[in-house]
Amino acid sequence: MPTVVEGSVPDFKVDDRRLLEWYINEINELKVNVRLNTEVTPDMVANEKPDEVVVATGSVPIILDIPGINRDNVVTASDLLLGKKKAGNTVVVLGGGLVGSETALWLAKQGKKVTIVEALSDIIRAGKYVPHMNRIMLIDLLKFHGVDIMTSAYLLEVTDGGAVVMRKDSGTRTTIPTDTVVLATGYRPDNALYRSLSGKIANLYLIGDARDPQNIMNAIWDAYEVAQNM
Ligand SMILES: Cc1cc2nc3c(=O)[nH]c(=O)nc-3n(C[C@H](O)[C@H](O)[C@H](O)COP(=O)(O)OP(=O)(O)OC[C@H]3O[C@@H](n4cnc5c(N)ncnc54)[C@H](O)[C@@H]3O)c2cc1C
Repeated sequence: MPTVVEGSVPDFKVDDRRLLEWYINEINELKVNVRLNTEVTPDMVANEKPDEVVVATGSVPIILDIPGINRDNVVTASDLLLGKKKAGNTVVVLGGGLVGSETALWLAKQGKKVTIVEALSDIIRAGKYVPHMNRIMLIDLLKFHGVDIMTSAYLLEVTDGGAVVMRKDSGTRTTIPTDTVVLATGYRPDNALYRSLSGKIANLYLIGDARDPQNIMNAIWDAYEVAQNM
């Protein structure tokens, strides 16, 4: 089962996994040359002398500049989902967008005690629009699996004791005892390769999250538009 795309890891993301399997099958059938474990550099591109270059390098998590953020018990949602890092039994998920909420549900379903801390007054409101029914269903599932949701609250610091959080309305500080703090505070485009190739390659394209971190549909549309016009 391919799980290289972190969004497809939770058990309830079965449709994402099916799509991934379909693409892998198509790529194999069309005999597309795939080189895994290879980081593309500007020199490698120059050596290949390609007619066209499509850069689809994705996005990287945004890491907030907060005291204690580099501690061992602070992990990104992506690293956790990809199995690069582990979470303890009590978890604070910072960020109640789609990524934070789905990661919280995935952890709660593993029996962990999870609290979401969100700066806005409601969860799944930041970032790209999430269809109403999907949003309501996810909120219901979070409640059903006992996830605590703390809205209008900021993470101030991560300490030995846990996550120090400030309530926006009252200004009161609370320490939530936790084994692990999971960062789900958004993604920024990883477009360094594109920028270093700009001006050196005549037909250069930037697509997907590397252009604008959104979703699978956006990445597929970008790819379709570029491929159609080659
Ligand atoms: C936790 C999570 C859950 C999500 N859930 C959903 C969802 O339910 N539905 C949805 O539509 N979207 C979801 N998304 C968003 C979706 O995963 C992305 O929008 C989509 O994967 C973007 O596709 P992409 O091909 O542009 O980038 P990516 O899928 O990020 O792929 C980029 C690839 O490029 C590789 N790469 C980077 N630099 C180099 C280099 N120099 N050389 C070689 N390779 C390189 C990376 O390793 C990576 O494999 C989710 C995202 C996350 C993080």
